[in-house]
Amino acid sequence: MSKGLPKRSEDYSLWYNELVKRADLAENSAVRGCMVIKPYGYSIWEKMQAELDRMFKETGHTNAYFPLFIPKSYLSKEASHVEGFAKECAVVTHYRLKNDENGKGVVVDPEAKLEEELIVRPTSETVIWSTYKNWIQSYRDLPLLINQWANVVRWEMRTRLFLRTAEFLWQEGHTAHATKEEAEAETLQMMQVYAQFAEEFMALPVVRGRKTENERFAGAEDTLCIEAMMQDGKALQAGTSHFLGQNFAKAFDVKFATKEGGLDFVWGTSWGVSTRLMGALIMAHSDDNGLVLPPKLAPMQVVIVPIYRGDDEFKAVSVKANELVSALRKAGVSVKFDDRDTHKPGWKFAEYELKGVPLRIALGPRDLENGTVEIARRDTLTKESFALDSMPIEEKVKALLDEIQTSIYQKANDFKESHTTEVNSWEEFQELLESKGGFLSAHWDGTSETEDKIKELTKATIRCIPLDQKEESGKCVLTGKPSKGRVLFAKAY
Ligand code: AMP
Repeated sequence: MSKGLPKRSEDYSLWYNELVKRADLAENSAVRGCMVIKPYGYSIWEKMQAELDRMFKETGHTNAYFPLFIPKSYLSKEASHVEGFAKECAVVTHYRLKNDENGKGVVVDPEAKLEEELIVRPTSETVIWSTYKNWIQSYRDLPLLINQWANVVRWEMRTRLFLRTAEFLWQEGHTAHATKEEAEAETLQMMQVYAQFAEEFMALPVVRGRKTENERFAGAEDTLCIEAMMQDGKALQAGTSHFLGQNFAKAFDVKFATKEGGLDFVWGTSWGVSTRLMGALIMAHSDDNGLVLPPKLAPMQVVIVPIYRGDDEFKAVSVKANELVSALRKAGVSVKFDDRDTHKPGWKFAEYELKGVPLRIALGPRDLENGTVEIARRDTLTKESFALDSMPIEEKVKALLDEIQTSIYQKANDFKESHTTEVNSWEEFQELLESKGGFLSAHWDGTSETEDKIKELTKATIRCIPLDQKEESGKCVLTGKPSKGRVLFAKAY
């Protein structure tokens, strides 16, 4: 085993990067900003996908797939959309290579220039709304509730594994509705689906909120979001749901015959979460020993490690271990019996700690004699000796997994609560942002200029206007101008 991880308290950023690599989640690739998601990381993503997909289907959505390439002219059709994404677009200009004249490899064939350049999708509103034009004629065709699982490319300059990459995996929902109210209700519903997923499965408490105009999605009239707090006191935007108004319907001329016999533009929404959620999961719960995974998303919930000397002991321990494996599997617990003789138990303990396996069961000859096993919890690093005749192992394990799920949520929630502070003066704002970080709940005069100024002075942005914001008259923390309620500021990833 290589030496330990860097400590969070010493270098949080280095700790994160090292953890992602050492826990076999992902690594950098030859292309700057693009990552290779390794099998262990991908299996966590698959678990997230499965739950989200189930939730989308439960709320009436179906999956479809749209092309990776978008004609450049499509992107230009919605003015603020193209403005928002223009700086991050990868563009395909040619479709062929040819042998270089010096015989030294290949070059782009200038004769194979595309008539119209293609954009590698940074998001799919334009290609999807150009398709919806053909699919929607009447109110009977609505609502259209579609989701796509895909990769997208945004040419980000400052990248970091999972949190911000140039290519990322995500899902993007794109819905079309007959009324404004219905589209607004959908926007809210999908933000709530994200919040529920984050809290129930990722054990990640989030603030449900609304973005300010500055931070709104390019082309949206309203952006709802979930914001989470990481262990270094920085915020992370974990998911967004946009009310698009009739903007894309107008840009792509998507009209429908109304029930009343008129003709109207369709109302739209779009919503997405990405592999950034992996970053959120890692940053929210893990410690200096490695990953801490919520049982509901852990690819392996339990690992059984045999302790033995010689073949006879190994055989005896294996019989018991296999019994436990069967009982646990039958109860729907994912479990691995690590019977490799190429690694010592101590190595395995450290390895599974690094990988965040929620429960470790160790079993040796003395346990066989006593009818016990040793159960270790990853989240608290505590161990107990469990008497196998006291209750069925599957019940014990399930109860512990539930307890871990609740307990890591509680811990993250306590952290979020204790890192959310009301501030009332500019001095306090600056001081707290540096000394403690977290969410600063402060009054703001509602203008983009003030928001920009605060960002320029402190790097803090308005993460959201919380949906449960209380009406409270006060004075803007920077300008002293009147304000009707507090918003959440933070430095963010
Ligand atoms: P947007 O379409 O900008 O609202 O983003 C949709 C989702 O993708 C949000 O949950 C973002 O947090 C996430 N996201 C945006 N940019 C990136 C990126 N470069 N890498 C990973 N996730 C991203």
